[in-house]
Amino acid sequence: MALLHKEAPALAQGVWRTLQTHIQGTVIMPGDADYDDARMAWNLAFEHRPPVIVMAETANDVAEAVRLARAEGMDIAVQATGHGFTLPANDALLINMSRMTHVEVDAAAQTAWVEGGSKWLPVLEKAQAVGLVPLLGSTPDVGAVGYTLGGGIGWLARKYGLSADSVNAFEVVTAQGDILWASEKENSDLFWALRGGGGSFGVITGMEIRLYPVTTVYAGNLYYPAEMAKEVMTRYREWITSTPEELTSSVLLMNYPPIPDVPDFLRGQSFVQVRGAYVGTMEAGEELMKYWREWKAPAFDMFGPLPLIRAAEISNDPVDPTSALVTGVWLKDLSDEAIDTIIRFGLAPNGVTISEIRHVGDGAISRVDKRANAYGNRDAALVLEIIGISPTQELWHAANAYAQEYKRALVGHLTGGVYINFLEGDERQERTKDAFTAENFRKLMAIKARYDPENVFSRSFNIPPRADNNA
Ligand SMILES: Cc1cc2nc3c(=O)[nH]c(=O)nc-3n(C[C@H](O)[C@H](O)[C@H](O)COP(=O)(O)OP(=O)(O)OC[C@H]3O[C@@H](n4cnc5c(N)ncnc54)[C@H](O)[C@@H]3O)c2cc1C
Repeated sequence: MALLHKEAPALAQGVWRTLQTHIQGTVIMPGDADYDDARMAWNLAFEHRPPVIVMAETANDVAEAVRLARAEGMDIAVQATGHGFTLPANDALLINMSRMTHVEVDAAAQTAWVEGGSKWLPVLEKAQAVGLVPLLGSTPDVGAVGYTLGGGIGWLARKYGLSADSVNAFEVVTAQGDILWASEKENSDLFWALRGGGGSFGVITGMEIRLYPVTTVYAGNLYYPAEMAKEVMTRYREWITSTPEELTSSVLLMNYPPIPDVPDFLRGQSFVQVRGAYVGTMEAGEELMKYWREWKAPAFDMFGPLPLIRAAEISNDPVDPTSALVTGVWLKDLSDEAIDTIIRFGLAPNGVTISEIRHVGDGAISRVDKRANAYGNRDAALVLEIIGISPTQELWHAANAYAQEYKRALVGHLTGGVYINFLEGDERQERTKDAFTAENFRKLMAIKARYDPENVFSRSFNIPPRADNNA
């Protein structure tokens, strides 16, 4: 589905081969040996066949590629890891950022410089080496910049907020091919838009983020049998009315696939899990979990002290490229009726793999002024993410149809907003507006009109350029 697309002209291969002579990176076209590696996304449910790919190595490479694409009348798409595939770049230049992975930590300033294609893992490793942590999400395998541009909600979110709220500055290549600095002091409108507004404003070649002094959290999972879903979820609802903001947690229904990658004790079975991370003393974390342990013993108890270098073990997301359906909505409540619907859809055979409700409200995210930057839905507390591991196109479409029905059944319990990082493909574009307040969306369109009036970065969030003299 093509929203806001223009006709792409035939590719002038010669000019793109010439670009190779003055960039450090690599220009790749169909038929070249590395073409398939360069276009492949982590989420195997999606693929694209761009007429030209630039594997950028420097900000200057990005700027040169953008300028040439503009001269040739082409749109521009950006990919770092392909965890958040939006629209295919079948008629656009694809700038692949995966070689731009330099990370530098300033221990004294408690900041990190992260190049535009880096995953979270090297940031986590370098930060932990000096006792600091970035606000990464459930897996260190996701791109740090892509995650941050959509907000970025991780296991420290209630205590320290969104990743987007912890950015000091971005280095950006604009639609004109200029390399700009965006911060509170320079190009502050662009800085405002990038914190939540996605990759629609330019290519981020690097960002400076703040880090926090945490090395070990009390974290993990309690696994209860799926038959206990109703009592665990209602008990969870009570728990989160009083859990301190040092705890970011979730409750999830998980249908573990019968595949070798899943540990024996989980394989092919369904569970209701309580998951989370507590930032504080291990004693206080243990005290908090008595609520569960003194109630009913879980089938498996994997909550305990966890060095953050092993943060991936909280969610155990797959690392190898996977074909998955991902969608999500903000819940208004976790009423008995909402819980019944989530259980009905979430545990049905041949339905979806994961239904996870993360509690991220009443903490650092909602404390930030709604107008401070583009990110929307600050008041929403409970985000439901639905994931269907679906190895074939047919299964992906079946999972998608099922997830849409699942969300329709919940409609009375939804805020109407979306967390855009938990959307992919067409849905990320179709529902972009629902990720923002009306005021912030108007401002985003006005900033888009200033920085990308011809919408050449049309493959990210769907923000039409629209001048607004009041924004
Ligand atoms: C297994 C898994 C776990 C996840 N866990 C979380 C989580 O805990 N919390 C959360 O908030 N999100 C989470 N996400 C969602 C993830 O943050 C988004 O999908 C994000 O868009 C991925 O960014 P990426 O760069 O890795 O992916 P890509 O597909 O490479 O990029 C996604 C989009 O980001 C933009 N982009 C990326 N890099 C740049 C750049 N340098 N310059 C300009 N634009 C850029 C582009 O518009 C691109 O289309 C998860 C996703 C997966 C698949």
